[in-house]
Amino acid sequence: NTFAEIDLGEALNQNIRRCKYVKPTPVQRNAIPIILAGRDLMACAQTGSGKTAAFCFPIISGIMREQYVQRPRGPRTVYPLALILSPTRELSCQIHDEARKFSYQTGVKVVVAYGGAPINQQLRELERGVDVLVATPGRLVDLLERARVSLQMIRYLALDEADRMLDMGFEPQIRKIVEQMDMPPPGRRQTMLFSATFPKEIQRLASDFLSNYIFLAV
Ligand code: AMP
Repeated sequence: NTFAEIDLGEALNQNIRRCKYVKPTPVQRNAIPIILAGRDLMACAQTGSGKTAAFCFPIISGIMREQYVQRPRGPRTVYPLALILSPTRELSCQIHDEARKFSYQTGVKVVVAYGGAPINQQLRELERGVDVLVATPGRLVDLLERARVSLQMIRYLALDEADRMLDMGFEPQIRKIVEQMDMPPPGRRQTMLFSATFPKEIQRLASDFLSNYIFLAV
């Protein structure tokens, strides 16, 4: 019942200690084993529940084991292994800040891209390499259209505050994004959908994007 008992990889466990996280919150205690077991997950979780770490830990842990997979390297296109979609610049930056702390000295590189800010700085950051991309849907569609990001190698997809993304009208962008990562096994991605509420529209997203998923309400 402590993080020390969950083997997430030496470097990540050390970062968790450094952040002074000792006991997992309920969403973490339930979600982390499900994600580590390779299952898709639909989780109802509020802000403040610790959901960020619930999806970041297994993603970073998984990528620590996988970051040496062969990846194409276009001159300008980057191929992240994980994508975390969130509705706003503020939330994306918050997730990025946390994920960077957790990925310290793991070799896993986290980059953020959001709209409402000049794209050039973000392009330069991406060019230096990215394993985990945290992005808002509109800016990511822009990056895909410019062929600066490819989602062909995505192994993990997390949708955070999915209900808020739908409220903000991002459903077409989200669908466009997910379409670009559909590929046959064994490259199949693992998908995690986090939402504070579970209305019909979210249930539809879950049945369209997740396969054989576990439903978690905390
Ligand atoms: P979140 O719901 O992901 O926005 O997290 C809410 C806050 O709780 C953040 O400030 C986290 O750093 C903190 N937090 C998350 N999980 C833990 C934990 N297991 N132990 C202590 N603090 C935590």
